Parts: sequence; C-alpha cells; structure tokens
Amino acid sequence: MTSELLDAVIVGAGFGGIGAAIQLKRMGYQDFVILDREDDLGGTWHVNRYPGLAVDVPTTTYSYYFEPNPNWSRLYSTGDEIKQYAADVADKYDVRKHMRFNTLVEGACWDEETEVWRVTLAGGEALSARYLITATGFLSQPNTPEIPGIESFAGRIIHTTAWDNTYDLDGRRVAVIGTGATAVQLIPELAKKAADLTVYQRTPVWVVPRLDFPIPKPIKRLFSRVPLTQRALRAVTDVIYEFFLFVGLRHRQLLFRRLNVAASDVAKMHRFFSVRDRELRMQLTPDYDFGCKRPTFSNSYYRVFTKPNVHLQSSGIEHIEPDGVVSADGTKTQIDTLVLATGFNLWEANIPAIEIIGRKGRNLGKWWRDTRFQAYQGVTVPYFPNYLSMASPYAFLGLNFFNTVEYQMRHMDRLFGEMKRRGATTFEVTEDANARYLDRMTKLMGNSVFMAGNCADSRSYYFDPNGEATLLQPVATRRAIKEASQYPLSDYRIA
Ligand code: NAP
Repeated sequence: MTSELLDAVIVGAGFGGIGAAIQLKRMGYQDFVILDREDDLGGTWHVNRYPGLAVDVPTTTYSYYFEPNPNWSRLYSTGDEIKQYAADVADKYDVRKHMRFNTLVEGACWDEETEVWRVTLAGGEALSARYLITATGFLSQPNTPEIPGIESFAGRIIHTTAWDNTYDLDGRRVAVIGTGATAVQLIPELAKKAADLTVYQRTPVWVVPRLDFPIPKPIKRLFSRVPLTQRALRAVTDVIYEFFLFVGLRHRQLLFRRLNVAASDVAKMHRFFSVRDRELRMQLTPDYDFGCKRPTFSNSYYRVFTKPNVHLQSSGIEHIEPDGVVSADGTKTQIDTLVLATGFNLWEANIPAIEIIGRKGRNLGKWWRDTRFQAYQGVTVPYFPNYLSMASPYAFLGLNFFNTVEYQMRHMDRLFGEMKRRGATTFEVTEDANARYLDRMTKLMGNSVFMAGNCADSRSYYFDPNGEATLLQPVATRRAIKEASQYPLSDYRIA
C-alpha cells in the first residue's frame, strides 16, 4: 500500500529525531512522521535500562542548548531522568503526535522520476516523502559476540540493551563480557548483588574519576529563576569537554601530547589509589594512548575488583559451556548468568542502519564501504537528494551528541531556508563540495591522537573498517556551528 506524499519521514525517535522534528516544525513543515522500532521515544535512553545507567557527560552540557532543564538531580543524571527529559521536550514542542512506534523501517529508495523517497516498512507498508532524515543514532544495533558454544549456555544471557529488571541477581554467579563505558557503570552495581562476579576483559579501558554531586534545591531554583546561571555552568562544562576534544585532535603538537599524557597519569593515579595489588593493576592498564577509545568516568570501577566476590579474567575466552565460561588459560568458571556488555555493531550494522538507495541506484552502505566513509558536514551525501543522514561519518561533534544534533539543525535551517527562498523542492550536495570536505577532514584528522598516536591495540569504534577515524568531526564545536550557518550554498544543487 502506498500512502499520500508526506513532507518528510524521520527514522528514529531519539534525541536526533526529536531535534530534526523540532527543526522541521520551525521551518513550517507539519506533514511528517517519526518512525521508531521501539515502543516509546528516547532512543538509547529508552532501550538502555541496566543498573547504574547514567550519562557520562555532565547534563548541563548533555541537553539541547535551546531547552535547558533546571531540574536535573545531579551533575551526571540517571538514565530515567534523561528519558523523561526526552519525553518532556517532545511534548513541549508537540512532536509526539508525529511518532509511530513499533514500526521497523527496512529501507528507502529515491524515485528519480517523481523525486520522492519511497520508504519501506516491515510488513510491506510503503510511505512516500519529499525528504528523508535518518536519525538512527550511532549506538543502536547491539553487538552479540560469536563465541564458540555461547548458544549452548543453559543459564540466562542478558545483553545490556535488553535488561530485565524483574530478573533477580541476588546470590547469582555472574559473568560479564566487556569493559566499555556500559560495563564500567554496570559492574559496581552487579557486584553489590551477585554472589560471584567474573569480568571478562579483552581490552582494558582508561578510567578517570567522576566529579559528580547532587544539585541542591536552592541551585535548581536559581537555575529556574535566573536561567543565565545555568547557562554559565553549561559554559564551564562545555569548555571542559571542548578541551578534551582539543587535546585529542592536536596530538602532533608537543603541548597537547603532554596534556594527553597528563590525562593518562590521572587515570594511572586513580588506579594506583584504588587497587593495591600490582598484578591486578597491570591487568587493568591499557596499552594504547588515552583518547584512542572513549575514556570512561567512574569512582567505583577500579575499586570493585578488590572485593572478594569480584574477579578479573583477562586471558581471553576460549569457549562457553552450558554451565560456565572456559578461558584461554584453561580456567573454567561456573556461572548461571551471562551478561553481554559487548556494545554495538557501529560500522557493520549502523552506518547506515537501513538500506538506502539513492540516484542511479547507488547503495549508500555499499558505496561507503567501496570508497571511503564520508558525508558533507556529516549530514549530506552526493547522489542522495533530499536526504539528511544524522548518524554519518564526521557527524559527531564536540564529544557531545547534542552538539551534533543542534549543528545538524542549523545546517537544515540554512538549506531549507534557501530552498524556500527559491521555491525549490530538491537539494543534493555536489560531488566537488563533498570531496573538498573529505580532504579537509582527512588532513585535520591526521593531527589527532587517532592517526598520530598509538591506537593500534585499542579496538576503538572511532575507527571505521578501513582503519580511518571518521566518526568524530575534527573541528572545534564553535567553528563547526558557525560553518553550519555559513557554508556556501553553491555546495548544493538546489532545484
Ligand atoms: P563498547 O565501548 O564498545 O564496549 C564493548 C565491550 O565489549 C568492550 O570491552 C569490548 O572489548 C567487549 N567485547 C565486544 N565483543 C567482544 C568479544 N567477542 N569478546 C570479548 N569482549 C568483547 O560498548 P559500551 O560499553 O556499550 O559503550 C559504547 C558507548 O556507549 C560508549 O563509548 C559511550 O559512548 C556510550 N555510553 C554512554 C553512556 C553514557 O552515560 N552516556 C553510558 C554507557 C555507554 P574490546 O574493547 O576488546 O573490543
């Protein structure tokens, strides 16, 4: 069945999709849908519900600039609060009515004759829209590891993206695979309940202390009455995050290399004061530069390994049996619960998250893999007219997803504003503009810790399958935001 022509289809009802919808409304579009395979909005903050879930960017920074929330309970708020924030913003801007849940999008194809996107849903329904926006996030396709024997495990397997709050962990013998940002939050919580907890670490992660505190009521009142005060705190947390980015991006310069070493020294001291056993400390020590992989923030992660019921296993997993995990060193640990904190298939299954076919039958996923991962200003791609890809190579800005979204909203504003001015209905970035942008990003990234540092053993998702670090935009946030409002309109064919 093919429906009438919509202004736009947005795929994903997380913060990216909500931002895109708010922007469409600001520009006067009303006839659009936001499709999401889950049963509610919030994206990653709806899906992830594991114990200990909290944001690891201060919430003053981790929120829309145009919609500060004076009521955050702490500097690093919990997952529940962030999900509630998503719901509140969607309601305030009245975009919830555009959302259709439990709707799996299979693919989208540009119809050259009618200049319309045909979007196919699971079950056979098809939608037609003038514009297509994929806001599918970067970390939305769970990675389930293919470990020999895993299918034979007779106990309970839980991936952190499918947490079951009714499952009682008290007294269980638990194994956790993975030591990324999710595991760093989850493991101290599991250790409080499990009788025995074994952590299977493949690559140690850098962990620095987290300066977190509850925000007192009088401060919240102040934020509410004098919003400028919250803006001021945001300015401070923004600058700190921008500073981290700068240190990572300027690795070829001695000063920034030294600062990077200083950051790793902080993590080293944190480890030293948390773990007295030298052998255990060595096991927890990364052998790649700070910043190659997203560092994590925790005051309890290192310390938890000193508890008698918690064990670190770093020799690698040989295979899994019905009642336990056998390590490469021959040790078998009997367990009844296997927790997969194994992250996401970012490049394999998420960029792009659905099949997208553009002009002349170009398949976006295949083209990115056959050539290089690339997108003009991290949002548009030649041969894909009227398409905005919010989870693109070079889209992630300033280590903060909200910077990414608001920068893309500005890009939309300029582009759609010009189309309206000209009475046009189609846009496509030129190949030349895209090539120039890619060259510039490649050169800038060449100075970063990713390309100039020691990242060989980091197994970092910042690197694409071609070994290029194409996830982050290597540009200062202020500059990128300015460029999003000033890029040459001649970089687009507008008709
Ligand atoms: P992740 O950082 O990709 O970590 C996955 C972990 O699983 C890694 O330790 C990985 O080891 C391990 N692993 C994967 N496959 C394995 C296998 N076959 N055998 C053994 N180990 C395996 O994923 P994540 O921890 O879910 O975090 C992903 C991102 O989500 C974070 O970087 C962060 O951006 C975001 N996050 C944010 C928050 C927040 O508060 N905002 C909280 C949690 C997560 P290797 O390193 O060796 O591959």
